Amino acid sequence: MSPINPGSTIGIVGSGQLGRMLAAAAQRMGYRVAVYSPESEAPASALADYNYVAPYESREDLQDFAQKSDVVTFEFENIPRTALDLLSAAVPVRPSPEALYTFQHRLREKLFLKSLGLALPRFAEVANRDQLLAALKEIGAPAVLKTAGFGYDGKGQYKIKSLQDADSLKEIWNGQTYVLEEFVDFEREVSMVAARGLKGEFAHYGLIENHHTSHILDYSLAGAHLHEQAAKQAAKMTRAIFEALNVCGVMCVEFFMRKDGTLLVNEVAPRTHNSGHLTIEACVTSQFEQQLRAVCGLPMGSTSYVSSAAMANLLGDLWEPQPPRWDRLLEHNVALHLYGKSAARKGRKMGHITALAGDPHSAREAVISARSALHP
Ligand code: AMP
Repeated sequence: MSPINPGSTIGIVGSGQLGRMLAAAAQRMGYRVAVYSPESEAPASALADYNYVAPYESREDLQDFAQKSDVVTFEFENIPRTALDLLSAAVPVRPSPEALYTFQHRLREKLFLKSLGLALPRFAEVANRDQLLAALKEIGAPAVLKTAGFGYDGKGQYKIKSLQDADSLKEIWNGQTYVLEEFVDFEREVSMVAARGLKGEFAHYGLIENHHTSHILDYSLAGAHLHEQAAKQAAKMTRAIFEALNVCGVMCVEFFMRKDGTLLVNEVAPRTHNSGHLTIEACVTSQFEQQLRAVCGLPMGSTSYVSSAAMANLLGDLWEPQPPRWDRLLEHNVALHLYGKSAARKGRKMGHITALAGDPHSAREAVISARSALHP
């Protein structure tokens, strides 16, 4: 199959910051970008050469978008599979609709990972109070109850410490499926962003360490030699996931790392990932350029780190009580990325900053002190 070369049009489904950073990488390399999303003023739309603002159910708009695009990829998980199926009748969709479908639903995801024999937290399907009590007996407390579909950044999650906690959850039983998961006493959270090309070539960015606040990623650290032993184990697991679904594109596997260094798979994002943003400055090829290369059938780029790095998110909270002091931030040696979102809301990802340094911990100090300069 011949590669999709510069000058062609990349179709992106979804219009958030991941789409925006992909669009920037694609345009730098001479591609045109078409964005399909129900939202009109969104981060990726501002950069797109062609915008399709329409619901995911609009057959006609999807067909127009497919006709405009030489290949389609996505930047957002919660897209109805039917939309991607319709697109894939007319244009290559990478990763496949099947991959999106597998990972957009926690229970399907866990059953799939289990079928590959990968280590993951113990879990059970739960749809009512009785099933929850039975599952709690089996899994033990504490445990975490999560909605099976359409949850992100800890939304739709309940920590259950006792039978009383379980009993107090009355309003949530509305026919939805949930997954009860063992609470993992992890030492740290890590992720592996990786790519697989059209011919099966596999490349990964090593393990990136992630620190969350209120279930939202706060900052990430990376460097060529961070968690080297565990990275080998992670790469094996990650590759197995990509191969089982014949994935072409970029995905991210999130892991819990226990004290003994062993890894449990937490979840898989079938797209580029927040923890991989630091690859823009820290690596020879960013996760976004890699996504482009993979879905276009081009050779994978080098994932080598030119430096250790840290990335800190800028949430909407930073816009209160006063607007951020960008002049103060920029006295620090960091790369600023803002996604062009107009309304800053609490917990909303507005941008991020990245710092490079000789080691991940110095890079961490640099982003944390730069961020705190926003409110001197
Ligand atoms: P998730 O959306 O499933 O990635 O959950 C968001 C965050 O909640 C994770 O990054 C963890 O910090 C925490 N968390 C989720 N599941 C568990 C678990 N089973 N045990 C401990 N912490 C968890």
